[in-house]
Amino acid sequence: AKRNLRGQTVLFSDKHAAEIRTQTQIERHLLSADLEHELIQLFQPIVDLKTGRVLSFEALARWYSPQLGLVAPDVFIPVAERAGLIGGVTRVLLEKALREMRNWPEEIGLSFNLSAHDICAAEGVVRLVAIVNASGIDPRRIDFEITETAMAHDFVKARQSMQMLKTLGCHLSLDDFGTGYSSLSYVHRLPLDRIKVDRSFVTDIENDCASKVVRSMTGLCSDMGLKSIIEGVETPEQLGRLREMGCDMAQGYLFAKPMHPSMIAGYLADTNRL
Ligand code: C2E
Ligand code: CA
Ligand code: CA
Ligand code: CA
Repeated sequence: AKRNLRGQTVLFSDKHAAEIRTQTQIERHLLSADLEHELIQLFQPIVDLKTGRVLSFEALARWYSPQLGLVAPDVFIPVAERAGLIGGVTRVLLEKALREMRNWPEEIGLSFNLSAHDICAAEGVVRLVAIVNASGIDPRRIDFEITETAMAHDFVKARQSMQMLKTLGCHLSLDDFGTGYSSLSYVHRLPLDRIKVDRSFVTDIENDCASKVVRSMTGLCSDMGLKSIIEGVETPEQLGRLREMGCDMAQGYLFAKPMHPSMIAGYLADTNRL
């Protein structure tokens, strides 16, 4: 709450009001959007630090709205969740990504982001399982990424959904690890394969303290039998530090920015790739 000139309490600042107007506008356009055509995905490689090989690509969504232009996922995914549209958005995106995978070599996997609703709603995960089954893609090639915020909604249901995806043969990653406050308390109670260490830890890895945090997080992961993926690697210096620490996998602009699907074959064939 904030006080206006007359000393009355107002709920929102002008900036907030503008943001809410925008959100309503986004929601209105999203409700009438042709999701099949307007949702697109870019793909960013995840690299094995020991061998330098590309292990998988993470699908990162974009919405090309005729009225609003290109809308980032951080903006439209939360709106889709609130407007009850996320089920349809996820379905379209997963189908598209699995279709795209048909053009990839068999050994390359897909990392796919799920939102809270996808794993907490009653019908959410059943639908995902059906989409994977219908695609003909080997479920072992798919890694679903879930944030701890998404699990916070309904932990029991989320764990159940994760178990179903595991049973299908898919892999599971905990995304944005280290950004929540309760991270460690439940990691061992979930059927996880990988932890994605949030970008914020790599940003100041030159700093001794931050580098100790990364080292202990990856050490902890390997003690628990989990692989760790370091997100947001941008410089050769950061990569050097991560290699010294014996980190498993990494992702970031240093290797490649999220790319259009038509660039993937060329990227994989490029022998000068980092
Ligand atoms: P995320 O899953 O943590 O994805 C990583 C984000 O960091 C992506 O932003 C990616 O483009 C960006 N990034 C990758 N490497 C670097 C780097 O070296 N430096 C910097 N500064 N950034 C880097 P993007 O594509 O804008 O996605 C933002 C978030 O939106 C994602 O965060 C994810 O939570 C969500 N999202 C994206 N696609 C989907 C989707 O299909 N479904 C759902 N539910 N959420 C999605
Ligand atoms: Ca992710
Ligand atoms: Ca992340
Ligand atoms: Ca994120």
